[in-house]
Order: sequence, then C-alpha cells, then structure tokens
Amino acid sequence: MNAGRDGGRLLLVDDDVILRGMATQTLRHAGFEVTAVDSGEEGLRIFAAEPIDLVLLDVMMPGLDGFEVCARLRATPRGAQTPILMLTGLNDAESVDAAFRCGATDFVTKPINWTLLGHRVRYSLRASATSEAALRSSEHLANAQQLARLGSWEWSVDHGELTCSKELLSILGRTGTDVPPLTADALLAYVHEPERLAVQRARHAAVREGQSYQLDFSIERPDGSRRVLSEQASARRDSGGRVVGVAAIAQDITERIEAEHRIHKLAFYDRLTGLANRQLFMDFSKMAIERARRLHSLCAVVHLDLDRFKCVNDALGQDGGDAVLRTLAGRLQETIRRADLASTARIDPEVVARVAGNAFTVLLLDIASNEHASLITQRLLQAVAQPLDAGAQALVLTASAGIALFPRDAQDAQSLAQKAEQAMYAAKDAGRAQIRFYDEEMNAAASKRLTLENDLRRAVRDGELCLFYQPQVEADTGVMHAAEALIRWRHPRRGLVSPAEFIPLAEETGLIVSIGDWVVQAVCEALQRWGTLGFDKFSVSINLSTRDFVEQDLVEKLETMVHRFGIEPRQLTLEITETVLMSDTDRTVARLHELRDKGFGLSMDDFGTGFSSLSYLKRFPVHELKIDRSFVRDATRGGLDAAIAGSIIELGKQFGLRVVAEGVETTDQAAFLLDRGCTTHQGYLYAKPMPADEFEAALVNGRTFLQGMSGAA
Ligand code: C2E
Ligand code: MG
Ligand code: MG
Repeated sequence: MNAGRDGGRLLLVDDDVILRGMATQTLRHAGFEVTAVDSGEEGLRIFAAEPIDLVLLDVMMPGLDGFEVCARLRATPRGAQTPILMLTGLNDAESVDAAFRCGATDFVTKPINWTLLGHRVRYSLRASATSEAALRSSEHLANAQQLARLGSWEWSVDHGELTCSKELLSILGRTGTDVPPLTADALLAYVHEPERLAVQRARHAAVREGQSYQLDFSIERPDGSRRVLSEQASARRDSGGRVVGVAAIAQDITERIEAEHRIHKLAFYDRLTGLANRQLFMDFSKMAIERARRLHSLCAVVHLDLDRFKCVNDALGQDGGDAVLRTLAGRLQETIRRADLASTARIDPEVVARVAGNAFTVLLLDIASNEHASLITQRLLQAVAQPLDAGAQALVLTASAGIALFPRDAQDAQSLAQKAEQAMYAAKDAGRAQIRFYDEEMNAAASKRLTLENDLRRAVRDGELCLFYQPQVEADTGVMHAAEALIRWRHPRRGLVSPAEFIPLAEETGLIVSIGDWVVQAVCEALQRWGTLGFDKFSVSINLSTRDFVEQDLVEKLETMVHRFGIEPRQLTLEITETVLMSDTDRTVARLHELRDKGFGLSMDDFGTGFSSLSYLKRFPVHELKIDRSFVRDATRGGLDAAIAGSIIELGKQFGLRVVAEGVETTDQAAFLLDRGCTTHQGYLYAKPMPADEFEAALVNGRTFLQGMSGAA
C-alpha cells in the first residue's frame, strides 16, 4: 500500500503464507517497502540483487533454514552490516541463542505482536544506521568525543571486566603507555571521597537492579587536579532480561561548571568587594524569613549607608574610594563573624551585601531581642568608624544605619529591606552616624545610648575627661593619708557626668582600656608633681575595671608609667572589685601576686557586695578592704548591715588588712565605725571628691578634714 515510502527496504523470508501476508501489510502500513519471499534460497537471491536495508528471517523453513541463511548473509560484505531480525517461537531459548550465534541482530517472537513489529524494525534500522555512521566516521567520532570530553566505560557482569574508552582515560589523567587496565574499584577510587559513596550506590543499583542513573560528581586525578564529570549509565540486558553489564558515558563538564560559577559570581556578587549583591541578599533574606517564620525566631535587616562618602571619592579618587569600600566590606564581615549570633549566621557570607555605591545591608539571624540588633549594629558602626589608613592622613568615616525587624516591621524580604532603608534615612536626618529603628519607640532608647557612646569617644579623644580626688582620712585627727582618684567627664553641654553613667558603657565598648590608661598616666603625673612638692610618700587609689585588669600587658603598662614618672609602685593602690576576682580565679590570683610582688597596693573595693568569702580572701593577696557604702549607710540602723560592716572590720583585723569605710556621710556612721575599730574613712562627711587643683592645694597646705567640714552630704 504505502510501498516506496522512505521507511526503508525490507526483505521478509517466511514459508508461512498467512504470516507473510500479514507482516507485509503491517510493515507497508508502517511506511516500509517490503519484498516478501517464501524460501531461504529466494531470499539470498533477492538480497544479492536488490538494495535491502533489513532482513526479517523465519527460523523454521524447508530447504535452507533461517540460521543458515543468516550465516550466509553475514558472510557477504553488504550482509555483514545489514540488520537481520529472526522470527522465532516464543519460548524457544535455543533458537534465540542459535540466532545470535549465527549473527542475528535481534529476534521477534511468534506469535507476532503486529503493533510492535513496525517499531521493532524501525529501531533496528536506526541502530544500524547509527552504528554504521559511527563506523564510517569512527575517526570523526573519536575527535568529536575528544572535543566534547566524552568518555565511556562498560562493565560486564560475567567477566567482571571493565572496558574504558581512551578519552575516559585521558579525562581521568591516566595517560602514558604502561598504565595497567582499570578495574571497577580503581575507577571508583577516582571519585572525590565525599561523593564516592553515592556513586558507588548508583553503580551497584545499575548492576543489581538494572537501574539507570545520571550523576554529576568530581574526580581527583593522580596529579591532584579536580574535574567534574557528568555520568550517564544504563544496564545492558540479555534476551532473558538479565543484567549482563552496565554501559556509561561520562562527560567532563568542569569548564561548564566553572563558567556557571563565574556567571553566578557575576550575577550574584559585587565585583568590587566580593560581597553578595542585592539580588543574592534578597534571595537569602527570603529563605531566612521563611526559616524564622517556622522557628518563630527574630531576624533583622540592617541598612547601612556611609556618611559623606562623596568627599572620600573626591579626596582619594575613584581607586582610593574603592579601596576604602573594600576595607569597610571586610570589617563589616568580620564584625558579623565575631558577633554573638547563631552559628549559621556566622558562616554564611551572604548575610553582608553591598547593595549600592556606598550602601551595605546586613542580615541578622536568630537575634535574641531588638536590643541585640541594636547592639550588633553599633558594632558595625564602630567597625566603620575605626581610622582608615589613607596615605598620609588617617581617615575616619561614619555610617548611618536603619534597622527593620521580622516579624514586627514587615512580613516579607522586600518590605523588610525597604523599611530598613527608610529607617536609615531617618538616621541621616537625625544628624548621621546614628542608628534608627523602623519603629519610633525603639529609637529613643537606642539613640540615647549611641549619642552617649559617640560623645564618649570624642571625650576620650578631646581630653574632656578629668580626675577628681577624694581624701581618705584618719577619722579622729582629720589627717589625710591617701586619696581615691575618681574620673569625671566635663561634658560640653551636660556639665560633669558621673562615672556611674558612662563607665559601664565604656566597659562594654572597650573604650575603658584607653580610659584606664589615661587615668593611670594622669595619676602618675600628679604624684610626680606632688613628690616635687615634698609629698613623695603620698598614695592614690585608682579604680581598675575588669577589662583593665585582664589586659594582657597591665603589669608592664603600670611599671612603665611608674618608671617614667619616677614614683614608687606603692604610691599606687589598685582598687578592684569582687567581680574581677570571680572571673578566672587561677589567673587572677597569679596576677594579683605579680602586682603585689612589684610593690603595688591592692584594695578590694565595694567589699561585701559580691561573692567573696573567707576562703577567697585567703587566696587573694590584697592589702586593703573597702567596706561598701551601702553597709556603712545602713550600719547605724543595726540589723544585718551593722553585722556585716562589723564583721568586715573584724575580718580585716584578723587578716592584717587595712579597712577603709567609704561613703561615710553622718557622724553616727563615723561613730559606729570608730567604735568597731575602723578609723580610716572616706566620705562626704569629711570631703567630697574635688578637682585636682583644689585637692593639690589642700594637700600642700596640710589641710585636715574633720567631720562635717565638707559642708555637704
Ligand atoms: P567607687 O570606686 O566605689 O567610688 C566611690 C564612689 O562613692 C564615688 O562615686 C564617690 O564619689 C562616691 N562617694 C564618696 N563618698 C560618698 C558619700 O559620702 N556619699 C555618697 N553618696 N557617695 C560617696 P563616683 O565618683 O560617682 O564613682 C562611682 C564609681 O565609678 C566608682 O565607685 C568606681 O567604681 C567607678 N569609677 C570612678 N572612677 C573610675 C575610674 O577612673 N576608672 C574606673 N574603672 N572606674 C571608676
Ligand atoms: Mg573605688
Ligand atoms: Mg567603692
């Protein structure tokens, strides 16, 4: 019917007239040109005379049987390449074997499934066309494979043998002439260790269950270089469906992957700083918000914009400006890494992004509270504010930051980012170098703190700090034999600010270290001068914060100062609190001994408020106890406070320590203390802390401080 169409020319050899008729009809209908003959002899003749693309051959025929015809066809040059399908009985395993032995390409079982027959034929033809083409151009193919970095291997179950293509060996870096043949295990050993198990499993499943797979994995070459392979494998089965082997093609896709990485990098990372760009940051924020929603946790977006960055570019030029941005990007990342955040937040580089010329965004995951977000943001601003080395002069930049919180301020990444940016503009409006929450209420608290912190930095730099001195007197004679140096801040607008207000902040920000250094130097300087005025034995107490005390080079610093100003170490009494002593006792005890051995005085400040017990006191080599003001204040009311004050005094006596009562305000308190045997008093009753010059005058004039002389409480 449809004879002559381009499906291919078939030769059908079968002695069964009905089958011949049906098959011819079916195949013609499927688009083939069919010549049908009833004997092997006739078949061979036609094949020799006409161009035939495929032969369908019945096995059982009078005269030459199918096997014989097949063998003869295969012996001819053209017949060697032509696909031959044998028509056999269904359960005739012997015929199948014989058919393959004599060179059949495939077989079709009887009774014939007419629907499938056409497909089967077409498939055989196509396979033969492919292999013929491959054969014809095997050289081309090899070239093409090499170009495509396409290797292949085949493993046979029965022989346990692995055959590898040349190209595969070259991909594996297995070159040279005397390399031994690869085994399956050796092939697996090339796979990068962490991925090996997955590859092994897939290969096993292909062998055992005939499962195909497609896997991308890395291999490690003998020279240590890595390549990425994409391997596609499928099982080979015999006629009974048994898996007899696995064949695979493996393509070296390293360049493609690298290109993808490069494209990814270009698309998602900022070229200048290497930080994530806005796109990646948004993607990452979306994931983070989903996660926070699930875990009911808090997260925040900080939008940070450098203040007056244009000036930097103007002053340093484009390249200089770029270098500054890179440095700041590094600092922001480092700050986040060190921040007290959940571990995931610390390792993901995507949490810090550069979203515009001089604007950065930071994602804070798993924050504990709003306050926490503000604290980390302050660290970010501080990191920006560290002086930059810009050639000749040091450059100090500031940034303004806005914070928006999930879930409070927004429900999705887009609006969270917008709100953070809006808040940043509010920070700019408020005078720059500030932090603003999207929410107004939170701003009040945060900004007060930040202002104070910025002011304090300026104070340290511009010398707004000064020292007051408060005498420690012998209560009965009013003679002063020592003084405590107390820091004050002469705030340009607020006047004198008490240390109670700024010392905790200074400790938290680390500013305390430079403040501490300054105090030590100022006191040493004063002692030196007073020495020249004839008071070379006079001693001053200095308050050391925990941070000061644990500073690595505390002892060296103190010694250097003492040496530089030519005073005696015992003219300095270091006041430490019990919290200092609690921090790390072994190291602490060692440090106390060191200080004591160098000759410095040691005093335990605010004694009684902390955790000190008798056993501690035994271990800590201090010279002096200062009874905390609270016990002194309430001692005259009797009760527990009186008992504590009394026993501290008693304790001091037992350990041979000097006991100083601080905060003595009334004559009753003084009387109580004297009655218990504590004679050294410090407090408003005798003298308030006074400015250095006033104090110096009192010292030089040998002024005594009798009760009630200070005229204040
Ligand atoms: P502190 O070491 O216990 O200092 C004693 C505090 O009691 C001082 O407060 C002093 O002015 C105050 N005071 C003295 N007599 C009386 C009195 O009769 N009545 C009352 N109500 N108070 C009295 P100040 O100067 O405000 O210092 C507070 C704390 O700040 C100090 O407590 C000390 O812990 C810390 N501080 C002061 N100067 C420094 C310093 O240079 N470095 C460090 N790290 N901390 C300092
Ligand atoms: Mg003190
Ligand atoms: Mg005290």
